[in-house]
Amino acid sequence: MHTFDPDTVALDRSSFIAGSVSPQGTDPIAVYRPSDGRLACEFLEAGQATVDHAVEQAQAALRDSGWATAPPRHRAAVLRRWADLVDAQRGDLARLESLSSSRPITETMTRDLPVVAELLRFYGECADKVAGEVFETAHDVYSLTHHEPYGIVAAISPWNVPLLLATAKFAPALAAGNAVLLKPSELTPFSALRVAALAVEAGLPPGLFSVLIGTGAVTGAALVRHPGIGYVTFTGSTQTGVAVMCDAARYGMKPVSLELGGKSPQLVFGDVPDLDRVADMVAASITRNSGQVCFSGSRLVVQRRIADDLASRVASRLEAVRAGPTWDEATTLPPIISAAQAARIDAIVGRARMSGAQFITGGRVFEQDGASFFEPTLITGVDPGSEILRDEVFGPVLTMQVFDDEEEGFALAGHPLYGLSAGIHTRDIDKALAGARRLEVGTVWINAYGRGDDLVSPFGGFKQSGFGKDFGVAAFHKYRRTKNVWIRTHAARSGGLTT
Ligand code: NAD
Repeated sequence: MHTFDPDTVALDRSSFIAGSVSPQGTDPIAVYRPSDGRLACEFLEAGQATVDHAVEQAQAALRDSGWATAPPRHRAAVLRRWADLVDAQRGDLARLESLSSSRPITETMTRDLPVVAELLRFYGECADKVAGEVFETAHDVYSLTHHEPYGIVAAISPWNVPLLLATAKFAPALAAGNAVLLKPSELTPFSALRVAALAVEAGLPPGLFSVLIGTGAVTGAALVRHPGIGYVTFTGSTQTGVAVMCDAARYGMKPVSLELGGKSPQLVFGDVPDLDRVADMVAASITRNSGQVCFSGSRLVVQRRIADDLASRVASRLEAVRAGPTWDEATTLPPIISAAQAARIDAIVGRARMSGAQFITGGRVFEQDGASFFEPTLITGVDPGSEILRDEVFGPVLTMQVFDDEEEGFALAGHPLYGLSAGIHTRDIDKALAGARRLEVGTVWINAYGRGDDLVSPFGGFKQSGFGKDFGVAAFHKYRRTKNVWIRTHAARSGGLTT
């Protein structure tokens, strides 16, 4: 029984800096509950002075704690204890997460929080298992690499899967020996604040992991521009990614990694053995989190001979969802994060309707108990190059395009701007593997769609979906810089082999 009463959830209401709640801040910012539109609480926004203070505390913690210089096994032990505390408080954390986000409680309880704990363990184990190299050189020379942390990493994360996506950044960055200043989305700050407190309980030296609450324009920009920051890791929209990258370049040439938006195709060939299974995946990939997922399969590209059949099976699944608040375990269609975002989806869908698109199902925004929802929507007859095919809608809106031959199918699956992910459904593995090579995207799922609880596979886009990977060992590498140390010994070079 996961359903809960949102009014019974206790909230932290301030940034968390150097191991304790920090009442510092400037202007009040309000956090609302998307499931009923009610005010959850107000925070004082972390402005420049608060960011300066958090950076100073992180510098002091790095200097005094030996976090980066002690045996890496020590970091692994802290992250393991932290994971155990997350497991022990799974219910409280899941309720905090569902309260201000669009994540239904069943998802936060059974997926997000277990993955958060496992990410802490996974990257803890990387701390002393990912080694440097010694190169082949002349015998009086040793050339080797160390991997060193950057110092302080600024992590900026979005609202759509708040804690899981933030953990995919702070866990590897801390495990690699950095301090982290996390700015979660100002819409969904609660779970990160609680997890930061658990870190201190687990033995993470205070100051190494602080959580700053504020908007992107104030707190986010102050972090990216701060001279004390060594690396910026960002997940969010492509538009904001551009601003972050420009600031990082202008203010200190900081390295960045960017996980950005997507417009991912689900390419379905006529030879699929089980159309119901494909319909399940296509429908789930656009209704989960109400389509507010970067890798939503928002473009169905289907071979003509099965198109009508698949469309009707997908439509019946889209119509079977149950809209409701995130705190009700029966909910399968959670609210859109805000009324403004619902209005944006409605405007894009409205323009598609005006330009002649046909609606197989859905297409309507609606209010229920103070929350905004959008009907899961399947649209066909959309113009190539139209807004609804080009732009990320970030809602439960699926377009359908039909193709005749393989060449046409792959051409339609490609996207001029985005390259986050793609699904290919066919029983012909040669065709699927050739397509996986061909599509310019960071992840291809074949006869599958989505990550589930996969921790090991790297995830991140091509083109305007960004660069740099989260998840997998790749994310651990990302938070370390490589130093080459070159040693000439005093031993004379021997002339030949000694046997
Ligand atoms: P957003 O870009 O509006 O905000 C993301 C974060 O950046 C927030 O914390 C925000 O406060 C901050 N921010 C805004 N302006 C900033 C600035 N100038 N400087 C520094 N920080 C700033 O994105 P969102 O609406 O929170 O999230 C939805 C977007 O995120 C979608 O486009 C989605 O595709 C993308 N996303 C991508 C992935 C991925 O792995 N590729 C995962 C999840 C979400």
